Amino acid sequence: MLANIYGVPTALQRFEPTHAAALARVKAINPGNYARTRNALDGAVTGLSPYFTHGLLSTRAAAQEVNAKYPLSFDDKLVFELGWREFFQHVWSRAGLGGDAILANMHGTLPWAGAYAKDVPADVREGRTGVAAIDAAVRVLYATGYLHNHARMWLASYLVHVRKVSWRAGADWLYAHLIDGDLPSNHLSWQWVAGTFSSKPYLFNAENVLRFAPARARAAWASPNTVIDQSYEALDTLARTKRDAGAERGMHEAVAEPASYSDVPAGLAASISESNKALAHVFADDSAINLISSLRPQETLELTHPWALSARGSAPAGQRRLGVIHQPAHVQWPWSAARWEFVLQAMAGVVDAVWVGDLRQIRTSLAMGAGIRLSAQACLFPGYREALARVATTRPAPRLLPNPVKPHRSFTSFYQQAQREAGTLAELLVVDTF
Ligand SMILES: Cc1cc2nc3c(=O)[nH]c(=O)nc-3n(C[C@H](O)[C@H](O)[C@H](O)COP(=O)(O)OP(=O)(O)OC[C@H]3O[C@@H](n4cnc5c(N)ncnc54)[C@H](O)[C@@H]3O)c2cc1C
Repeated sequence: MLANIYGVPTALQRFEPTHAAALARVKAINPGNYARTRNALDGAVTGLSPYFTHGLLSTRAAAQEVNAKYPLSFDDKLVFELGWREFFQHVWSRAGLGGDAILANMHGTLPWAGAYAKDVPADVREGRTGVAAIDAAVRVLYATGYLHNHARMWLASYLVHVRKVSWRAGADWLYAHLIDGDLPSNHLSWQWVAGTFSSKPYLFNAENVLRFAPARARAAWASPNTVIDQSYEALDTLARTKRDAGAERGMHEAVAEPASYSDVPAGLAASISESNKALAHVFADDSAINLISSLRPQETLELTHPWALSARGSAPAGQRRLGVIHQPAHVQWPWSAARWEFVLQAMAGVVDAVWVGDLRQIRTSLAMGAGIRLSAQACLFPGYREALARVATTRPAPRLLPNPVKPHRSFTSFYQQAQREAGTLAELLVVDTF
């Protein structure tokens, strides 16, 4: 239905929460097509971000798989874009306050000297700004939990530079609706658009929208005679000098903003169990307790959190896994129902039991003997970061590119450094980890 209205490819409307689905997407990649078409909203982008974000697949495994069919180099656009993800992760891992420094202005300046609004205006949240490209993007976001990179840039640029909303307010709002919401990729991209993590603000106009809108739905995105239908010079002046330009006259009808949840939505585990009986046992009330009591003394239990949902095949044979949701961490960063469903389904498919609670208390909550060792993939997400480090032995998440100790401020310098350290991409792809 949506495809008929906004021309969004069907592969970017629904994301099946399995490793097999991620692998099928990787196998469909043709790096040449990707490079030629990735800027268009109906181009051959991969739709892999929800899988990378939640660790169903690593950037390294994806590059290895593509490379087996189409030998890749650092010059490939696909590797370059995966590099952007790794750059943002690098900045996060080297930023102050344990990574939380990325949530405030990094460097660079905002173009306007006035105060940016602390809230996203209702007309934007309800997709009734009257700028068709923005209202379409909001509708696609709510319906799919995903937006093409160009649509994310338009939305961010419009909010910050035309509506004078603080990038942080926009970033938090978008994060809450994305299935692939990733703090470094999202918040640093907003800062890149705003000008606080780049040398200049990112601006776009109606002509740019027409050029990259889906071919079969151009009219639905076209935004003639609106505030964005101006030259770049005029938009630059607007960004630097004017207050909120406001919504257009003759606005679109409102669309309801989906709710976001600071905890697993009530009834979700039951409905997943109902629709897939094979997953029901992991959500049973006593599943975590039973798992713990079945462990041998000195056995290591893997804590599988929402950013580390790798397939069982990638783990040591016989490894027992407990899926964990660290409730307190979700209070500040609510997720849409669709994202909770994606995560819980993916988790249920790769663990022996699921446990929801305060990770810092997991040993007492589950009456876990001192002999049981806990391991986990490290994670910088606020709350999980501290709790995992406290209760488990952590190992770094897999990466495609090295993570230099010295912080790099720009993508170019990061990417050049990776090439200096790694040699060729082929050499890099045969290394197991860093
Ligand atoms: C305002 C804004 C917010 C964003 N928020 C997020 C977010 O929350 N989570 C997220 O994963 N990405 C985010 N991005 C980056 C990018 O838009 C998405 O990674 C990309 O659109 C995901 O679609 P894809 O997997 O089909 O990408 P493809 O084009 O197929 O790219 C393959 C992979 O490369 C990486 N990649 C591609 N482009 C970028 C980019 N510009 N920056 C960083 N990594 C990139 C992603 O891991 C992506 O999955 C944001 C970008 C902007 C401008």
